[in-house]
Amino acid sequence: MTDYSKYSFWLETSGDDLRPRPALAQSIDVDVAVLGAGYTGLWTAYYLLRKNPDLKIVVVEKEIAGFGASGRNGGWCSSQFPVSPAMLEQRYGLDAARALALAMNDAVAEVARVCQDESIDAHYCKGGILTLARGEHQLPMLRSEFDDFARLGLGDQFRLCSAAEAQGRVRVTNVCGALFASENASVHPGRLVRGLARAFERHGGVIYERTEVTDFAGGASPRLLTPAGEIRARCAIVLAGESYLSRFAKLHRVILPIYSLITLTEPLTSAQWAQIGWQNRENLASCNYTVDYLTRTADGRILFGSRGAPYRMGSRISDEQDRHAETHARIQQLVLEWFPMLRDVKFTHAWGGPVGMPRDWMPMTAFSATKIATARGYTGQGVATTNLAGRVLAELISGKRTALSQLPIAQRNSPRWEIEPLRWLAIRYRQNAFYRIDEAGKQGKRKPIDAPLAEFLGRH
Ligand SMILES: Cc1cc2nc3c(=O)[nH]c(=O)nc-3n(C[C@H](O)[C@H](O)[C@H](O)COP(=O)(O)OP(=O)(O)OC[C@H]3O[C@@H](n4cnc5c(N)ncnc54)[C@H](O)[C@@H]3O)c2cc1C
Repeated sequence: MTDYSKYSFWLETSGDDLRPRPALAQSIDVDVAVLGAGYTGLWTAYYLLRKNPDLKIVVVEKEIAGFGASGRNGGWCSSQFPVSPAMLEQRYGLDAARALALAMNDAVAEVARVCQDESIDAHYCKGGILTLARGEHQLPMLRSEFDDFARLGLGDQFRLCSAAEAQGRVRVTNVCGALFASENASVHPGRLVRGLARAFERHGGVIYERTEVTDFAGGASPRLLTPAGEIRARCAIVLAGESYLSRFAKLHRVILPIYSLITLTEPLTSAQWAQIGWQNRENLASCNYTVDYLTRTADGRILFGSRGAPYRMGSRISDEQDRHAETHARIQQLVLEWFPMLRDVKFTHAWGGPVGMPRDWMPMTAFSATKIATARGYTGQGVATTNLAGRVLAELISGKRTALSQLPIAQRNSPRWEIEPLRWLAIRYRQNAFYRIDEAGKQGKRKPIDAPLAEFLGRH
């Protein structure tokens, strides 16, 4: 039997024994059948059931609830959206960009409301995000982000901080300034996803675990196919497998898996915390292209996450990719660079998982005439976004339209990724270029000559 606690610290400490629920044993008829017991599948199922308590809804999961990114992430329950406000404004106009930013704020608050209503102790803490400029070259990025949100009329949720103010909050090396964003929280991802699964069941939903969906079909009676039989749905099937959806031949190019990796320290002593500060449990990041995200856990550890593990040809996803010695070693090195006072600290956990990248970096939700619903493409920012997507999808399936289903994520599709080996070449080039850009910045050098190309590829 698989030991699921090994997949992340969060699953290990979720408070559940992680014993799989019963698998599907035979063909069944339901109203809604959901593929995937991560946040997307569970939020969608949860809201559908809350709005329509008579619906028969089942969620089918290949492993256990929270096996995917939902049980492994960095714990940022954040209003940050994968596409920048400036790009959203350019694509959809200022009003739509503002509506989406407000909806993301509300998603952060809604996660707290549901945790409260359903007694899910997910260690929710609204500490905000402090993005640090580590080096003068990162200051303009903070200023530009602040200006973007100010143009949407949301400047009051952000504050540009001087180096001294930033250092007063948390003592990290080489900080020249910071941007504080208030509408953000952190959670214990494992407790959230496992708690949500139990809440869904309490309201009458059913989850089948260790049941792989091998195919699906839309139409008047859409179906999920499994080795034990098919699940025929009257109203809708929901494909909520995020990066794993790329394993279906017919969805192979709609989403691309990129690995994000995490290391975790032992709990720090109060003397160590006194040196570091970081008393408000803000989520921390810098403006690095290779992405860094830090969380102070409720039990006093530092979680440091970053990208960099190489994309594998053919969008391969495998357990071996959860650990990439070189990237994990680099992340440990980063912890010591940021916090030199921790030179003797022990690292207790290392893990990773795939995030789903759509070709235009824009999350989507859709419900088609063939009764296939899907939400995906969170680009590594899905903890709060899946809540919003789940509510939008529940609305689309119920046929009840409000302002939610007018948001730019509703009823849209992303372009498909290029065929291999073009995909591999472009992604590996970009991963390598982003690393070189960060290294140049760290050494006070100018950006490499091909930086504009890499930046262009990162946006288009
Ligand atoms: C290391 C890491 C760090 C991250 N950090 C953050 C963060 O700090 N903040 C943030 O906002 N986002 C973060 N993310 C992204 C976020 O976790 C995801 O966007 C979000 O969890 C996606 O949820 P999901 O339900 O769509 O997908 P998943 O959680 O991946 O769930 C998909 C589920 O579908 C199941 N499945 C797949 N195929 C099948 C099949 N054929 N049959 C049955 N079941 C199937 C899988 O087993 C899985 O359980 C991070 C992701 C990773 C990997």
